[in-house]
Amino acid sequence: MSTEVKCPRDGNTMILVLESEKLSDGTVKAYFSYRCPICGFRLEAERIEVTRGEGVLSVKRTVTPQPPG
Ligand SMILES: [Zn+2]
Repeated sequence: MSTEVKCPRDGNTMILVLESEKLSDGTVKAYFSYRCPICGFRLEAERIEVTRGEGVLSVKRTVTPQPPG
């Protein structure tokens, strides 16, 4: 992912950060989001959810469309 995303507030280049959390039932959620290092504005880019069933691993991927500009 090399697309440069600018902060809608101040126009600074936003950085891509990865956060993940693990739920008690084994589900793992990972979020890719853009964060402005100057003002802290956050923009969710992509969400990946991995659910563990009975011998089955289910992956759900949600991509948040970026606003134009
Ligand atoms: Zn900003």
